[in-house]
This record gives sequence, structure tokens and C-alpha cells, in this order.
Amino acid sequence: MDSLAGGVTRAAVWSGAGTAVREVPLPAVGPGETLVRVALATVCGSDLHTVTGRRAAPCPSVLGHEAVGRVVRGALPAGTRVVWSVTAPCGDCARCLAGFTAKCARVRKVGHEPFAGEWALSGTYAEHVLLPAGVTLVEVPDEVPDAVAAPAGCATATVMAALAAAGAVAGRRVLVTGAGMLGLSAAAACAFRGAEVLVADPHPERLALAAAFGGRPDDGAPVDLALEFSGAAAAVGAALSRLDLGGTLVLVGSVAPGPAVPVDPEAIVRGWLTVTGVHNYEPRHLREAVAFLHATRDRYPWASVVAPPVPLAEVATVLVPAPPGILRAAIAP
Ligand SMILES: [Zn+2]
Ligand SMILES: [Zn+2]
Repeated sequence: MDSLAGGVTRAAVWSGAGTAVREVPLPAVGPGETLVRVALATVCGSDLHTVTGRRAAPCPSVLGHEAVGRVVRGALPAGTRVVWSVTAPCGDCARCLAGFTAKCARVRKVGHEPFAGEWALSGTYAEHVLLPAGVTLVEVPDEVPDAVAAPAGCATATVMAALAAAGAVAGRRVLVTGAGMLGLSAAAACAFRGAEVLVADPHPERLALAAAFGGRPDDGAPVDLALEFSGAAAAVGAALSRLDLGGTLVLVGSVAPGPAVPVDPEAIVRGWLTVTGVHNYEPRHLREAVAFLHATRDRYPWASVVAPPVPLAEVATVLVPAPPGILRAAIAP
């Protein structure tokens, strides 16, 4: 007999018009699935895109895909403190077999599934989230606080994927454009790996934060590597124009439709330039993210850029743009 049967949990259900906390029956935990009690969820910018209509999403749904919590039942022992991947890949389609599991042809995503469907509790703005088979779970060391660990599953892991696409950074000049959670995480990761890190962002508050995360204000000189997180077309063009001979531009922030950016092919040819994109990440990048946050927990002020959490009932109050100095709002369901 399933001891969870008959239990209820609470989830913030986004309806398009707003968000309401509803009582939901605790689901049965099937083979390969894991039920997690969410301790802290952080608010990724893509959820703001969803609620403002910039990104298409199933509706109604339980949003939220960056969080830390404890296993109730499933793939790891009960009580294990974990973060988890955004994507639930099938594992056997051509894309999965080619190593692009995040782009699985049948991918399902945490915080992106219809509430009326078979995976109602897909999001982290809830007391419990159900994680299907295929989701990567990574145990979080006790020394890493919730506010530091929560962004691992989207922001930090995506940054690890971007750095993998960028190649070795030690001794190189790196430009980071867009100093939100991803940009500052990238600045910190590049600095930690021995790069000289320049940061560009229109907000003075964020540039001030960059210093604490291993970066300094952009000096306008050529760079070996540019990591673009703002998604602004002008920033993409400007970053491309900054590459030195053999340089690489990694695009990460362009996740919503925007204007095309002019490309000078002669500059790419003569400059031996590389332009690449990264969207989501692979399981190894989530493991790297947790290891990186653990290694740098005292070196960079991760928790300082996460706002004090609000209760679940107040989720609507944090699904709005935060002040520039706060990179992540948080919810303690
Ligand atoms: Zn995200
Ligand atoms: Zn697949």
C-alpha cells in the first residue's frame, strides 16, 4: 500500500491571469520517478517571460524549475538533499543518443507541463514536485546553503554548458555581457578557472556586483572569448565585434524571438572566429554546477544575490522583475 495515498500537497497554479495556491492530491510515485519536498525555489527569468507572454507555455501549469529539496520517495534514499535537471529526456531517441539529451525529441521539462495533464506537479512553486524518470538528480553537500544550491538546476548548469562550449579559459580575456544570475555565475566560473573577466551590463548595480564575482567593468579592448547572456540583439552584435583572432562567441541569452543580427562573414573568416549557441545542458553540467558552487561557496557571495524567500501564497509578488541588485527572487513553499 502506498503510504502517500490520500495525502495532499499545495501548488501555485498559474492560470494566465494569475497564480492561485491549490490543494492537489499527492501523486503515486511510479517506477523511476522521484517525489521531492521543495525547500527553496528560485525564480528564473524565463518564468517572467512566461507570465508576461514573451514565451509560449502550457497553461494552466505549475511554474518553477530551479530549486533544492529533499527526496520523499524515489531514486535516492528518503531525506537526500538534491537539485535536479530541468529536462526529462527519453534517453533513446536520435538526439538523446547523439548526446543532446536536453534537446530530446520527446523532452518534457520541469515547470513546463500542463497542470491538467498526467504530470500535474511538474513545477517547483509547490510543496512537492514529481520528477519523472530521465531527470538527473544530484545530491547537494550540507555545506552548500539552499539559496546557493537552488539556482544550480538552471542558471549554474547552463553556465557550465556554456563554458564547455567555450573551451579552456585560463589565461584568456573573457567578456561577459548581461550580468544577471547567469552572467555573474559565468564571470565567477571564468575567474575561478584563471581567466581575466570583463563584464558589461547597463545596470550600475549589477556592474558593482560583478567585482564580487571575479569580474571588472568592460574596458572595450579585444577579447578571446565572449559569453552573451543578455539576449539583446545589440549586445550580440557588439560581442561578436570584440573577438580577437581565434576568438569564440557563445550565445546563451537569446531565448526569445528578437531581431536578426548582421554578421560580417569576412570578419569571421579572417579572424578565425567561432560563434556557437548553448540551450539547457547535459547531466554532467549539473554535476559540475554543484561541485562548482560547493568549491566557491566561501569565495563568491552567492546567497547575497538571492532575495529572502516568500511563502508559496505570495508567489505572484515575486513573478515580476526584481530590482537590478537582486538576481533571484525565492519562494519557500
Ligand atoms: Zn531557467
Ligand atoms: Zn530523447
